[in-house]
Amino acid sequence: LDLSCGYGPNILGYGNAIAVEAMQEAAKTSNVNALGHPLEVELAEKLVDAFPGAELAIFSNSGTEAVIHALRLCRTYRPKARTVLKCEGHYHGFSDQAMVSSWFRVKGEAANPEPVAGCQGTPQAVVKNTRVVRFSHPHAREVLRQNADDIACVLLEPMQAGSDEIKTAFLKDLRALCTELDIPLVFDEVVTGFRVEYGGVQTRIGVEPDHTVLGKIIGGG
Ligand code: PMP
Repeated sequence: LDLSCGYGPNILGYGNAIAVEAMQEAAKTSNVNALGHPLEVELAEKLVDAFPGAELAIFSNSGTEAVIHALRLCRTYRPKARTVLKCEGHYHGFSDQAMVSSWFRVKGEAANPEPVAGCQGTPQAVVKNTRVVRFSHPHAREVLRQNADDIACVLLEPMQAGSDEIKTAFLKDLRALCTELDIPLVFDEVVTGFRVEYGGVQTRIGVEPDHTVLGKIIGGG
């Protein structure tokens, strides 16, 4: 028995007849698509429709890679900024940077958490280029404002995995501040997208990020 439902994405259960049939049909007409496939366009359009703030969608193999794409886009937008601001304890896959101060890796004061490597072998430069705040802590705004020039983006889970609480006021505030400072806001909705609501936490609370990261939930696991 998978009592944790694969951490959430298997909401259709296992061997769901409709999902299995769709996968079998897709496997008959496509595999690795070098230059794209009409089905990818169809899916991209569905995703864009589901998230009110979205205009374009790109695909990757996993949530980890989708986060990497998002960070890269943000760094392209703000080429002089070196750091990513993230929330302590939030999980964003297993790339070096995403794992800094990720699940169960917390260090320092609540008002001033210290970035901590996810595991041995993480380049120190990556840890140094990650600024960490406590989710919904009043000090987070100050950190963002004071270091704005060097922040390429803000990355967070709008509702942390394992929690059922949405901090609407904090997220609205953060949205306003990111807009003011022209810093991209990235919502990782790998866990919450299509589950909290069809268009994720952002649709429920009416806060549009600049990038949304989705993952295995799209395919029901
Ligand atoms: N972000 C969040 C919030 C996640 O929970 C996960 C994994 N469940 C990821 C990113 C990474 O996704 P993946 O395991 O597909 O790389």
